[in-house]
Amino acid sequence: MIDYAVVGSGIGGSTIAAYLQAKGFKTVLFEKEPYLGGCSSTFKRHGYKYNTGATTLVGYEEGHPVKQMFDAVGFTPTLIQTDPAITVIQNGKTTPRYQNLDLFLEALQANYPHAQHNTFWHMVYEINQSFYKVQGYYYSNRSILKNILSLLSYLPLALKFRKCLYTNALQFISGIYKDLDDEYLKFLEAQVLIVAQAPLKEINFLTAALALGYTFNKTYYVPGGFSRLFDGLTASIEMMKRSTPVEKIIKQDDHYLVCTSKEVYSTRNVILNTTMFNSDTLFENPQIKGYYQSYEKLNNHQSSFMLYMTIKSNADFAHHYQLIQDNTYPYTLSNALFVSFSDKDDNELAPKGHYSVTVSIHTDTRYWENNETYKMQKESLKNELIKSVCDILDIKKEQIVDQFAATPKTFARYINRAQLGGNPITMKNFLPKLPSNDTPIEGLYHVGDTVYAAQGWPGVMIGVQNLIKVMHV
Ligand SMILES: Cc1cc2nc3c(=O)[nH]c(=O)nc-3n(C[C@H](O)[C@H](O)[C@H](O)COP(=O)(O)OP(=O)(O)OC[C@H]3O[C@@H](n4cnc5c(N)ncnc54)[C@H](O)[C@@H]3O)c2cc1C
Repeated sequence: MIDYAVVGSGIGGSTIAAYLQAKGFKTVLFEKEPYLGGCSSTFKRHGYKYNTGATTLVGYEEGHPVKQMFDAVGFTPTLIQTDPAITVIQNGKTTPRYQNLDLFLEALQANYPHAQHNTFWHMVYEINQSFYKVQGYYYSNRSILKNILSLLSYLPLALKFRKCLYTNALQFISGIYKDLDDEYLKFLEAQVLIVAQAPLKEINFLTAALALGYTFNKTYYVPGGFSRLFDGLTASIEMMKRSTPVEKIIKQDDHYLVCTSKEVYSTRNVILNTTMFNSDTLFENPQIKGYYQSYEKLNNHQSSFMLYMTIKSNADFAHHYQLIQDNTYPYTLSNALFVSFSDKDDNELAPKGHYSVTVSIHTDTRYWENNETYKMQKESLKNELIKSVCDILDIKKEQIVDQFAATPKTFARYINRAQLGGNPITMKNFLPKLPSNDTPIEGLYHVGDTVYAAQGWPGVMIGVQNLIKVMHV
């Protein structure tokens, strides 16, 4: 009998499987694809390598969840610190998001002069410095009593951040700046959207401050591509099942049967790294199906449209750019592109003299449902993004040696999910409305960006730490 069967090797699944294995539990990790990491993986196409989605690693520093979990499983990654974390370009103005607050403020003041910048950004900086120092809270959905007790554990956090926790971010920022101009608001909105996955009008100021200030933490580039992290994280897992989709899970009295096309595994516990929005399809048990279906109301259908390119160039590019335009691109939800380049010396990710480029923009899964127009939409948006990236970053079309696009449908085909970016923590979707890492069903757990705590490396890792607390392992 297996102790823990983990379904999916995203950030959440790989980390919890490695942790349980290190603790001596008999653990199996199933991954549908040959490569590990889901949204944070690296894949090969036409002979070139690309990071699928995630390209920045934040939170590998003392006292932060990513470092704490890597240390807990005995994994030390090879990383390159990247500073500025992002180079923001808007209307020809370049604003590097330096880790150092004063350096960043100098660049900001030159491009968007305002007397309130000092007050505002010092506040954002302080919130980011103090947030990770508050510890001891956890979140459980196991029963009503456990849920209430867990909510009480947030009191110190709620008291410390009470001023920004219950205040709408847009109102809070407008209150400080008074005369917020449209260009600067777009600058703020674009940066909030890539981290918080929601606009300022929907979130509280604490979430906005953490999103705006994440570049004040150390940001890393992963040489060789993000899949390197997963190879390292999972190295000690003995029962590693790549290219093995789990097709069905059957609940028995005191254990589960996990079925793949070839074998059936008996396990005491199941940890799903699939999304909350499609996990019901794995079960026939009505209680479990109903549990997952009750969260479908949180599905915001948000997703990503991706452009992948390999370019031949000797120019020097930063690792990450955010290109902010005036208007929203067609079939998308945004006016901003996030563009990541491989390191010039990273010849494992791109051949010498080349860059591997990943470009992403927010979209809605429902924009891609019309089979008759799908191909045309994909081609026209891809060409529009190529044009923007080439124009703004001065790349010639002839320098592009490979290019293709991916839509929410592509993500669904490869990693079983069309909704991307997880559950944003908004004023409406807040604890206790969010699903936790435990469930009311004995032996069934969940991890990943559609459950507590949030998306991205730090968000999913806080969820893994919470899972460890509620499983008492
Ligand atoms: C375009 C984009 C850019 C991003 N950029 C960043 C960034 O720069 N920095 C950052 O920190 N975060 C970033 N994120 C967010 C981050 O990548 C995700 O929040 C995170 O990777 C999600 O991890 P997860 O644990 O939820 O697992 P997922 O990534 O959802 O992985 C789940 C895994 O489960 C597998 N699976 C599904 N069904 C089955 C099944 N039945 N059987 C077996 N396996 C199955 C899938 O194949 C997949 O590998 C980005 C996301 C996107 C989409």
